[in-house]
Amino acid sequence: MSEDGGPALRIDVVSIFPDYLAALDLSLIGKARDDGLLDVRVHDLRDFTHDRHRTVDDTPYGGGAGMVMKAQPWAEALDHVVAQRGSNLADARPHLVVPGPGGAPFTQAMARQLAHEPWLAFACGRYEGIDERVYEHARETLGLEVSVVSLGDYVLNGGEVAVLAMVEAIGRLVPGVIGNAESLVEESHEDGLLEYPLYTKPREWNGRQVPPILLSGNHAAIAAWRHEQRLARTAARRPDLLHASHGDGEVEIAAATPSDVPELNVLFKACWVQEALLNDTLDIPALTEGLDDVRASLDTTQTWVARKGGRLVGAVRTSRLGDDWHIGRLCVVPDLRGRGLGRRLLEHAEATAPDGIRTISLDTGALSTDNLRMYRKSGYRVVPDAPDVPAGAVHLTKRPGR
Ligand code: SAM
Repeated sequence: MSEDGGPALRIDVVSIFPDYLAALDLSLIGKARDDGLLDVRVHDLRDFTHDRHRTVDDTPYGGGAGMVMKAQPWAEALDHVVAQRGSNLADARPHLVVPGPGGAPFTQAMARQLAHEPWLAFACGRYEGIDERVYEHARETLGLEVSVVSLGDYVLNGGEVAVLAMVEAIGRLVPGVIGNAESLVEESHEDGLLEYPLYTKPREWNGRQVPPILLSGNHAAIAAWRHEQRLARTAARRPDLLHASHGDGEVEIAAATPSDVPELNVLFKACWVQEALLNDTLDIPALTEGLDDVRASLDTTQTWVARKGGRLVGAVRTSRLGDDWHIGRLCVVPDLRGRGLGRRLLEHAEATAPDGIRTISLDTGALSTDNLRMYRKSGYRVVPDAPDVPAGAVHLTKRPGR
């Protein structure tokens, strides 16, 4: 349900074969409609024709095989859909999704995005497709967002099958449609990996056993096994999905170059948000500086980047101030923390200190307990009342080689 108690998602589908969409009465989507979570309305395009034969197509200008769907019935159908806005939709307009083999690929991420919309309208094409001016009418006259979306790199006879697939994928992400929302979390494609193998009772079937680890009750071991299975399955079936960062690739530390700047800028933002929340302020250099500042910092500091399978996973930078070697911007991507990478970057930064250095220093948030623990373990001690320390931070130092 939406906040005002109306359906969470309104869906209009226009087709010359409304019966094709009868499947939306069944199963979980049908139940969600009965429960008032989804308001699905199917319209017959032919109801918007004005001739005896209810004609929706004509020959293509410029010649060529096949027929093209006429602009007039489509425009009237869309006008009708937009005019049927319920009071719960306030001033919303539908996002018009037009299935087509030439569209953007339909993915789980797109399904998730569309599930957040209050209102979707689907235009099921047939024949060779729809007169291009219908898209212009939708955008310019009705003010709709229009997306052409493909189910895959093959050609169907019409958009209905694609709409059934999309409505099912989108509808099941609407809160309340799937009873156990947790079951959505570990599914294929949710985090870029395919799902692990599934087993149910009995424990032995036809001489085939369930993998013993699943019977062990050791939840950490089961989670690790499932993760390995997801990686192996994705590598075997869909290697295109397997970003190198999921692998066990070595972390390599290298001097930053200007080509690292865009990713570094994003990394800093991701790493310092926690600090902002802890201190209730966004006024933190890592968050407020832009690309130019990061680029300029490569000239004034020695910045190091850590990459795993090509992905930027951490960074640190050093600069000399007299006989002090200052370490700054030590950061590790949130999903790889707690695995020693921060420590490794810290040791790398320390190891690059030139001769003649008497102290190694760094600043960290006074409330960042994990960081403080790591620095203390590495021999750093807080310097009370140190000058020029940013608000909310503490200054720590140690002697080189300790
Ligand atoms: N002439 C079109 C082309 O080459 O791009 C193909 C038209 S197809 C025969 C007729 C209708 O089927 C399309 O308008 C679209 O609604 C639907 N359709 C076909 N393949 C599709 C796909 N891969 N994804 C989504 N819709 C598809």
